[in-house]
Amino acid sequence: MLTDLARASVALYDGAGAGFQRLGGLELASTASTASGAREVQRRVEAAHEAGLQAQLLDPDALPAEVTGFVDASSVVAAGHFPEDGVTSPKVLTAALAERARARGAHFTSGKVVGIDVAGPAGASERVRVHTRDGRTLSALTVVLAGGVWGPHLAALTGLDLPLFPVAHPYTYSAPKTGLTSGPFVRWPEHHAYARVHGERLGIGSYDHVPVPVEQADLTEGAGLAWRGDFDGVVDAAQRLLLPGARFTPQERVNGVFAMTPDNLPFLGPHPQLEGVWVAQALWVTHAAGAAERLVAAVLEDAPLPADLAVDRFGSASGSVEDLRRAALRLYRDIYANDRT
Ligand SMILES: Cc1cc2nc3c(=O)[nH]c(=O)nc-3n(C[C@H](O)[C@H](O)[C@H](O)COP(=O)(O)OP(=O)(O)OC[C@H]3O[C@@H](n4cnc5c(N)ncnc54)[C@H](O)[C@@H]3O)c2cc1C
Repeated sequence: MLTDLARASVALYDGAGAGFQRLGGLELASTASTASGAREVQRRVEAAHEAGLQAQLLDPDALPAEVTGFVDASSVVAAGHFPEDGVTSPKVLTAALAERARARGAHFTSGKVVGIDVAGPAGASERVRVHTRDGRTLSALTVVLAGGVWGPHLAALTGLDLPLFPVAHPYTYSAPKTGLTSGPFVRWPEHHAYARVHGERLGIGSYDHVPVPVEQADLTEGAGLAWRGDFDGVVDAAQRLLLPGARFTPQERVNGVFAMTPDNLPFLGPHPQLEGVWVAQALWVTHAAGAAERLVAAVLEDAPLPADLAVDRFGSASGSVEDLRRAALRLYRDIYANDRT
């Protein structure tokens, strides 16, 4: 289902004409024993084939030239290549999509939402009212909650306890270097790490650490979170996957925040109690546009949405909030690969 959403998303991103490039993706393994990274790479290539995606195993001696300038190829024993994968420049892509929406009559406004209520009979236009911090009230037939890592706060304004748990995530950029060429996004599933070229800079991130939950009260508006000292070792460990000459002292350190859920799936669907309110939360860029298309079809044409993404799928039988938080945090390190090997 996520593959379907991703496929629909990249089709739309391709059509936006800016901010998205199909540079491909590479998955690398560095251990060859039977219970190994190599077998996992092979499994992932086969799974991609079964889903109808292009994927092939590459000879580790024949990695694309764009990555051999920074990847330590001598330690690579298996490589999977996914040529249809792509990377976005989120600001450029979002601006292009927003421009397209404006051309079709969309109007954008901004302001912090501090209240949401529903008034009037079901189906009445302008039934859902959204109140902003600067004293405005916006009314609509349909409102979508899409607050990213602030989702639980937004949901709480509607009386909904959304089991979405933000976690901190380290990503670093090198200073500008010569000799880098844009190429495939590189992942090392065994090591829960990934790297890519951003113009003249190299970037590397890692999930290989104890999950760090971030409370709603600790999220800032706009500015990012401060870097954590214990992330230095996490990034240093990931850099050992790079050629010695490509390792770097970060010029920029990002403590990014992800939205995790107890089953690593997004929330997409109607609000369980309020007619006219919909939820689109914990969506990655990878799935976002496909999810938006499905949501629009559900709102306008009553088309079905995947039941696995239902907003109320974690009822009381799923355990306490603490149980759900623990389940979500356990999945953080597995975002690129679980340790099934
Ligand atoms: C370091 C890092 C690397 C990542 N890499 C990838 C990747 O490789 N691939 C991928 O697919 N995804 C990646 N992601 C995840 C991706 O960035 C997010 O999943 C995505 O941006 C979430 O989009 P969103 O629209 O749900 O939330 P956001 O982009 O956070 O948008 C939510 C918006 O809601 C607004 N908002 C919240 N509360 C209120 C309120 N009360 N009133 C008004 N506005 C409000 C916020 O200001 C914000 O503009 C990465 C994230 C990080 C941090």
